[in-house]
Amino acid sequence: MKQHTLRTVLSFSGKGLHTGRPVSMQLHPAPEGHGIVFRRSDLEGEPPVPALVRNVHKCRRSTALMADGVRIMTPEHLLSALSCLGVDNVLVRLDSEEVPILDGSARPYADAIKAAGLLEQDTPRKYIEVKRPFVFEDPRSGSRIAIDPYDGFAAEVTIDFKSKVIGVQEARYDDSTDYSLEIAPCRTFCFRREIFMLRLFGLIKGGSLDNALVVDEPRGYVGDPVLTWPNEPARHKLLDLLGDFSLAGAPLRGKITAYKPGHRINTLALRQFLETNI
Ligand SMILES: [Zn+2]
Repeated sequence: MKQHTLRTVLSFSGKGLHTGRPVSMQLHPAPEGHGIVFRRSDLEGEPPVPALVRNVHKCRRSTALMADGVRIMTPEHLLSALSCLGVDNVLVRLDSEEVPILDGSARPYADAIKAAGLLEQDTPRKYIEVKRPFVFEDPRSGSRIAIDPYDGFAAEVTIDFKSKVIGVQEARYDDSTDYSLEIAPCRTFCFRREIFMLRLFGLIKGGSLDNALVVDEPRGYVGDPVLTWPNEPARHKLLDLLGDFSLAGAPLRGKITAYKPGHRINTLALRQFLETNI
């Protein structure tokens, strides 16, 4: 398989989920070998922040990247759509530090990428072959991520919340999954009981019922939204995991099995995996 970039420039505008700040963002076609690189057009010299796990800075309810003191927040839904739709090279210019949350899913990104179409480039795509079984466990959260050799790519997620509304759910992605239909439309979610604390910590300033499912335990979802899939929360956690794992810098040839994944766990596991998979 050859590397691919976008055929045209794509533009998005919205606000950041955590900062609440307005942001305008453009995805530009980029040459082979470039990878996914963010540039802050609001800063002098537009310093680059490559979307690589070594640049993961701090994950508090979303992933954050930092290079030379320049931060990019909440890139995971965009990264998920780019990687699952086969975009290897793109320059992402944005005029604020947080990628727009849009409707809380990756659907607007997936739809725009599919509409633009991809341009095949000359250089073959590189893959990261999983050489031997790897397990990462976090005793504090009970989270576990296993990465195993596999012919192709697959990822399975199990979520297990102390919640009557969500409870235990599973979701799976593999080479036969229609990402745009089955994963991209699944929205981010939070619990109503957490909102006060999250706001107190300066998070989710841009959060609303337009970009998140809110669980009001034990009654159900606030506003009684129509779920895209009965297991929409698990599918969203899978969407997030696929975005976080794209920070490997190349697609994995292997199978990821994740129990109670989250951005911190995903990126810690990926970093440790890359260090040992030599
Ligand atoms: Zn998410």
